[in-house]
Amino acid sequence: MVRTTCPYCGVGCGINARVTAARSVEISGDAAHPANLGKLCSKGTHLGETVALEGRLLHPEIAGQRATWDAALDHVAAGFTAAIRDHGPDSVAFYVSGQLLTEDYYVANKLMKGFIGSGNIDTNSRLCMASAVAGHVRAFGEDVVPGCYDDIDHADLIILVGSNTAWCHPVLYQRIVAAQAARGAKLVVIDPRRTESCEAADLHLPLRSGSDLALFEGLLAWLARHDLLDNAFTERHVAVPDGFFERLARTRGFAETVADTGLDPEALLRFFNLFADNPRTLTLFSQGINQSTKGTDQVGAILNLHLATGRIGKPGAAPFSITGQPNAMGGREVGGLANTLAAHMGFEHADLVQRFWGAPTIARQPGLKAVQLFDAVAAGKIKALWIIATNPLVSLPDSEAVRAGLANCPLVVVSDCSAATDTGALATVRLPAAAWGEKDGTVTNSERRISRQRALFALPGQARPDWWALTEVARRMGFGAAFDYATPAEIFREHAALSAFENTGARLFNIGAHAAIDADTYQNLEPFQWPACAGDSSDATRLFTDGRFPTADGRARLVIPANEAPAGKGGLVLNTGRYRDQWHTMTRTGLSPKLSAHRTEPALEIHPDDARDLTDGALATLTTAQGSSVFRVRLNSTQRRGEIFVPIHWSRANSSGGRTGALCAPDCDPHSGQPAFKSSRASVTPLATAWTGYMFSAAPLTPDGALWWTRARVAGGWLTELAGDGGASAFADALLGPGADRIEIIDRARGGGRWAQIRGGRVAAALFLTTSGTLPSRDWLMRNFGGEASHLELLAGRPATAAPDTGTQICVCFDIGLNTIVNAIIAQTLVSVEAVGNALGAGSNCGSCRPAIAALLREHAPQGETVDV
Ligand code: SF4
Repeated sequence: MVRTTCPYCGVGCGINARVTAARSVEISGDAAHPANLGKLCSKGTHLGETVALEGRLLHPEIAGQRATWDAALDHVAAGFTAAIRDHGPDSVAFYVSGQLLTEDYYVANKLMKGFIGSGNIDTNSRLCMASAVAGHVRAFGEDVVPGCYDDIDHADLIILVGSNTAWCHPVLYQRIVAAQAARGAKLVVIDPRRTESCEAADLHLPLRSGSDLALFEGLLAWLARHDLLDNAFTERHVAVPDGFFERLARTRGFAETVADTGLDPEALLRFFNLFADNPRTLTLFSQGINQSTKGTDQVGAILNLHLATGRIGKPGAAPFSITGQPNAMGGREVGGLANTLAAHMGFEHADLVQRFWGAPTIARQPGLKAVQLFDAVAAGKIKALWIIATNPLVSLPDSEAVRAGLANCPLVVVSDCSAATDTGALATVRLPAAAWGEKDGTVTNSERRISRQRALFALPGQARPDWWALTEVARRMGFGAAFDYATPAEIFREHAALSAFENTGARLFNIGAHAAIDADTYQNLEPFQWPACAGDSSDATRLFTDGRFPTADGRARLVIPANEAPAGKGGLVLNTGRYRDQWHTMTRTGLSPKLSAHRTEPALEIHPDDARDLTDGALATLTTAQGSSVFRVRLNSTQRRGEIFVPIHWSRANSSGGRTGALCAPDCDPHSGQPAFKSSRASVTPLATAWTGYMFSAAPLTPDGALWWTRARVAGGWLTELAGDGGASAFADALLGPGADRIEIIDRARGGGRWAQIRGGRVAAALFLTTSGTLPSRDWLMRNFGGEASHLELLAGRPATAAPDTGTQICVCFDIGLNTIVNAIIAQTLVSVEAVGNALGAGSNCGSCRPAIAALLREHAPQGETVDV
């Protein structure tokens, strides 16, 4: 058994992994890990489906040709050296990732800032939490998350804002639901959308998109008017700018707040009273707050509220940024953001850091933040770029402009474990990276807890850890002595030592207790929270318990927001986000049939009253100033009028449409540089098609000639959704090829047909096309393609002997469908999620589907019964 950590979200769950065979592992939650206490969500539970070598990049490549590591590293080092010689250090850049381990991150940051001498290293964490970082620094003096998960167990009021926690941080969500059940904690969800996080909410505030600042300032003004602030706390511990409360009183009356947020006045007042009545308040915030042109000010408004009411540094009372990525926090700690230097130090500490590193030079000013960095690439200012463990051609806003820029960059190095990424396709040099299960190092979760991620398997092919590739390039650039690491433990030791170097207490990030850690202790390192100072065993569970902050005068700051950026005008507001069972650009979760079953294609959710000539289930083109892409339409009456939602996960590798990054405007928060992914203006028009359909195939087929397609993993192969504007039969002929190894049924009455391609006596592909819109349900085929079903059953899309249609998968762990759950609710008069679990097992393992079951209970439980979610 190996104790390791989940590679997905910032909850940072501990995992027990038991390797059962080559590239095979059984996964369970680590009951001894404080972050999850044995629980895992659907993504962590099904990690075992993602560790095979399918789709891996296993050899270095130069210009698309296989190369040796020596040749590839020589090429990279020579390219960076030449660019620096000819154009200066700011002509090169690294773009890294919250997927990196802290040790990888540390080496990358040291090489760029300390030895190349440029600030041009930024991370994809810029896209998810840079506004939280900027907000923390402004208010506290340092990027510090004061709270911890234990606060969930102590809070009387939990506020989720800009966070679909039920899908994006499911283990935390289940802990919140448990706190409601155990202690009667109240849950308020603030989100323009009615997400699954609302299922357990005592109050949902569907505010107008982008009005969070107005809401939190309106609440603070209301508390001030009713003399409900903690004046004793602010007098001792908080600096209040002149005119702070006068401005609030002038601009944030109750009526103004109602008007600005579009909320029901009664619901708003209920929220204000809940806040006033419950000093132990925990405000968890995420991308909905951060990904805005006023993200830093929105974070600031939340921090202002907690500071002015003294709700910080106490059990159950804190503002709490929950991070999207597994090691976004570790990246912040080493200085992986372009506007920080190292170990939570800014550029004013350049001399100190240069001395510690023994560096020949040092960056003395911030480098380019992600969007600026790719603008510089497009402008030809960046001559050599190294992208590590991220897929910016999918994830950045205005991604088609990013594509054009990369295509013209003289040297693009891409380190990745996946062979088929959109970004990798444009690389000059590709380097095969170690993946989860092979990597060895540390990560930091949202509550400042550092945990080990441990290797389970030997490195496959020629895959190598990213820290190793970076040190080899550093050596070839002449910096070998400073990068002479043989193990991650040596890097961690140096990182810990830097955090404590000349740190007299002014910097809270201090893990000096581990500055001399030996290899064995590192191997067995237990999860711990920082600070962890040498010779100091103070409790690091929650910070600011004494009201002292890491500013020059020890006081926190209330911050007056800058003038609000004007909202865009016209069109629909384009909101973007995640699906429950997918992660980022799906290079890993997309390998899992179980995880892919939850959502097999990207959908555009729109209120029926906004839909006009759009039809539920049909296709539509979504257009913004940046571009257009095709999505399946899903009419959703809980969507706010005037606002639409699409997921972020799909790429050219798995779809011709659904590419959200290509649609988002590259507008950024002026303080944090974080892009505003939730406020582009869009229009939607129906896509005319001659036929639609789908294909199950044993191998992934790219359907040339289709007007639109998108592909998902299923148990027996792949499900490809299709639409076209020519003849259906001609498309089938072109896709499957003519010949005798086919069965076909042409539906002359309704149009379209069904085709089976037979290979070795088995159905290699089953194609269903229709011109009238009538197709068999995919659900049975998803469970049976590639199995023992006969050719005719597969073409019929149902078993020969009638069997109940179990419906779309709801419970991923036990593959229990919607129809099965609804039938059980009705037939057995089930009124609680627990009862459904007892009857069917659904929701009783990872718990990710419990909000979906709760929604079904609300809809289908017998009238008059009280539903317990
Ligand atoms: Fe992984 Fe899920 Fe835990 Fe996040 S909540 S760390 S995705 S198991």
